[in-house]
Amino acid sequence: MRYVSTRGSAPVLDFRGATLAGLASDGGLYVPETWPTLSAGEIANLAGLSYAQTAARIMTPFVGDSLTSDELLALCETAYGRFSHAAVTPLVQLGHDQWLLELFHGPTLAFKDVALQLLGLLFERFLTGTDQRLTIIGATSGDTGSAAIDAVAGRAGIDIFMLHPLGRVSDVQRRQMTTVLSPNVHNIAIEGDFDQAQALVKAMFADPALSGRFTLSAVNSINWARLMAQVVYYFYAAVRLGAPERAVAFSVPTGNFGDVFAGYVAARMGLPVAKLVVATNVNDILHRALSAGDYSKGTVQQTATPSMDIQVSSNFERLLFDLGDRDGAALAAQMRGFDTSGSLRLTNAQREGASGLFTSARVDGDDMALAMRRTHDRTGHVLDPHTAIALAAAQRLEVDAPVVTLATAHPAKFGDAVERATGVRPALPGRVGDLFEREERCVTLPATLAAIGGYVAEHATPTLV
Ligand SMILES: *Cc1c(COP(=O)(O)O)cnc(C)c1O
Repeated sequence: MRYVSTRGSAPVLDFRGATLAGLASDGGLYVPETWPTLSAGEIANLAGLSYAQTAARIMTPFVGDSLTSDELLALCETAYGRFSHAAVTPLVQLGHDQWLLELFHGPTLAFKDVALQLLGLLFERFLTGTDQRLTIIGATSGDTGSAAIDAVAGRAGIDIFMLHPLGRVSDVQRRQMTTVLSPNVHNIAIEGDFDQAQALVKAMFADPALSGRFTLSAVNSINWARLMAQVVYYFYAAVRLGAPERAVAFSVPTGNFGDVFAGYVAARMGLPVAKLVVATNVNDILHRALSAGDYSKGTVQQTATPSMDIQVSSNFERLLFDLGDRDGAALAAQMRGFDTSGSLRLTNAQREGASGLFTSARVDGDDMALAMRRTHDRTGHVLDPHTAIALAAAQRLEVDAPVVTLATAHPAKFGDAVERATGVRPALPGRVGDLFEREERCVTLPATLAAIGGYVAEHATPTLV
């Protein structure tokens, strides 16, 4: 399998190359050159497989020659062996045709673990036997940071620098990052918002002073390997609800468009998907883009769902590319226009292409709280706020298919918001241990390339030549 950039002018890479690079050198994102497909019979045959076996089966065509099939299966078994539920991503029935897909049974209590536990192992495997060192830089609105740090803490050959917006992540999220004291882990709180953090990461990749001395890599969902790992649970869930005979709809709490793009990939691979609901909070750029063709930046509003407080959704570029005839030069021009004006109109082809599969909804804080309260009253289930946004969106939708809402975080990760809505304070699961007793380590820096880039240059280990 070969990987091409959405902007058409970066080198074509294999899976190993695309995983280690993260972002493409022309500013674009790597995507597979073609979508592998599974026949109805092959999808039916997934029914008897464990999660790790399903993962290896779905990912094999994407990995190509970069790993043997035994190696891939072994990595999946290690990564998913760290989850606290034997099904890894269990389905829970909420109503007649309403389901939750619980993606939060990993070590840091959010769905990011599903991809990052594997990505940490892939990095280590690809660096073994080389002199290469990797400097991972990432921006987080909370959950990616903790999951990435857990996945690479203490691993040889890797330094990680994680930027989060100061004061805008929950206490549990912050402590899951800052209490990891391994010398290869560097937490930076920036005096700015998540979009600024994400822009700083992109600027560091483009800065020759850094990219020339260090081998930079990304753990944000701009890294293709993350999305690949997330395709798996769409298949795993749908097969348990009757695929390939029956189509299933998914409602996805969306920020950077990574998780729901993985659902799109599953559909492109042949999974019968009835609908993908893109659920946003009041930061609704994706809802405006999908309902009116208007992808234009607003100012970020802080909400009880910080992982969705995003105005620029990196992975949307992958969809625009795939729906725009995969014309890298045209997309590069479209994105340059967005970078200068802060707004972009979808072409007719892009709008029509998206309208078949996607639908969208904007859910405000009141409707989110209502969904949490009602679900608790009627079923006894306590939802995290992100999941509640998607459930509220799913319940607005009329579709003649089972609807699976992706439960992206454990409610205890957002205990204050859950308690405000339901009156119940969810307990932290035992696997996070004495999080609130541990020492924290973090530096606070202004949101400028000079400050952050300087800090990375001073603390990272240069690539050996
Ligand atoms: C990251 C995250 C999201 C948004 O996922 P994207 O892939 O960025 O769209 C939603 N909910 C939770 C809890 C998250 O951590």
